[in-house]
Amino acid sequence: MKEVRVRFAPSPTGFIHIGSIRTALYNYLYARRHNGKFILRIEDTDQTRLVEGAIENLIESLHWAGIDYDEGVFIEDGKLVQKGDYGPYIQSQRLDIYKKYVDELIEKGHAYYCFCSKERLDAVREEQKIKGLIPKYDGFCRSLSLEEARERIAKGEEYVVRLKLPKNYDIHFKDLVRGDIVINTDDLDDQVLLKSDGFPTYHMAVVIDDHLMKVTHIVRGEEWLPSTPKHIYLYEAFGWEKPEYVHLPTVLNKDRKKLSKRHGDVSVEDFKKKGYLPEGLINYLALVGWSPEDNQEILSMEELIEKFSFERVSKTGGIFDKDKLDWVNGHYIRSSNLDRITDLAIPYLIEAGLIDEDFAKDKREWLKMLVDIVREGMYYMSEIVDKVKFMFNNEVEIEDEEALEMLKGENTKTILAAMKEIISGVDEVDEELSNTLMKQIQKSTGIRGKNLFMPSRVALTGSCHGPEFTKILYLLGKENILERIQYVERNYLS
Ligand code: GLU
Repeated sequence: MKEVRVRFAPSPTGFIHIGSIRTALYNYLYARRHNGKFILRIEDTDQTRLVEGAIENLIESLHWAGIDYDEGVFIEDGKLVQKGDYGPYIQSQRLDIYKKYVDELIEKGHAYYCFCSKERLDAVREEQKIKGLIPKYDGFCRSLSLEEARERIAKGEEYVVRLKLPKNYDIHFKDLVRGDIVINTDDLDDQVLLKSDGFPTYHMAVVIDDHLMKVTHIVRGEEWLPSTPKHIYLYEAFGWEKPEYVHLPTVLNKDRKKLSKRHGDVSVEDFKKKGYLPEGLINYLALVGWSPEDNQEILSMEELIEKFSFERVSKTGGIFDKDKLDWVNGHYIRSSNLDRITDLAIPYLIEAGLIDEDFAKDKREWLKMLVDIVREGMYYMSEIVDKVKFMFNNEVEIEDEEALEMLKGENTKTILAAMKEIISGVDEVDEELSNTLMKQIQKSTGIRGKNLFMPSRVALTGSCHGPEFTKILYLLGKENILERIQYVERNYLS
């Protein structure tokens, strides 16, 4: 069998959409599954949409997500470099190549020069609209002779080159997910292949590049499906072997609308900032539009590679369910190495002003324990701030009515007095004391169970709920506990 060669071909127009990273992921999984090659090509032929730094951002996002590739554009020592036998891999550096193939199409009669002005095209479109027709180029320049066209170019007239589609011709192709598709050329436009600025359009460049880069499978979003017949026709016009096609279902939100910025987070960057782990996001995204045969839901990259196939890619839209993503990500937060999770937590704590760099270094063990007791209920890392901020403020804020009621209960004063007495008499609240403190208070006051634990918890943390109380006692330590008791007595109990 021929070596599998697939590519991810983003346009550097800004941050990378999660639908896009899923496309990259499926390409990657397929390449690795079949010991093939994966290429990163930059499609920057639309110079008006370029965004500074977008290529770097894109490469960093792929790297963060754990999606590596074999050929194309890389960052090395802070600089963009290209590697592979089929470069350049940035389309704006391939203009001569496209020009050569456009000329070949013109020679063969599969393309023609078009001199129509924008005003004329607008007028044609307007008229078609009024007549209720689908706007389309009317073929005005189709019959110009090559001689005449070349004369006009020599005189300096602006032009584009269009694809010359035959009339009433069926274009057939097979999509590995959607099956056989037939489109008649009467329903297609004479697509522009070369623009007046000398740049090819996406349609021209993508076909030339996929052919020259020996791409075997084109795996991309279904929004490109309507373009595929034009591409197929170009392969036919050149007499080239066609690749296989796989169009992936669009990533939709729960209302079955396209996931867009207006509805919240959509870029890999957004999810990274919130503190999703790459393996969590990737694991979940793999399941948006695909599922393994055994319906396993927690899968490592190795397992995804092992199980991935196009047969199990769904035809209809993949629903992006944030709750499910959270569930998957929460799994990885709980099961990952604690040092790593602590490292990931630290920047959020610093940004929120709860700790500084020195604290992060000096109190690492303390921080690790804290992270460990709260990560159980976390879905993404930025939640850490809300989960732990009570630990950094001895002026206890009472969370809600329920907590206040608990604090104002009849036993609280007695409990806190007993607690104060025991703790004042020790040098530190060590692990042993934190484990036995509540038992000791129970003994000396006779108060037990919920009546003992709830007021204690609320007095020291402000909330009826939270992580294991003995651990909180230990992490707070003597001085903080005493300060909190004093604060609560003064502000709520006197
Ligand atoms: N440049 C296109 C994009 O940004 C690539 C489409 C394709 O894969 O053919 O999505």
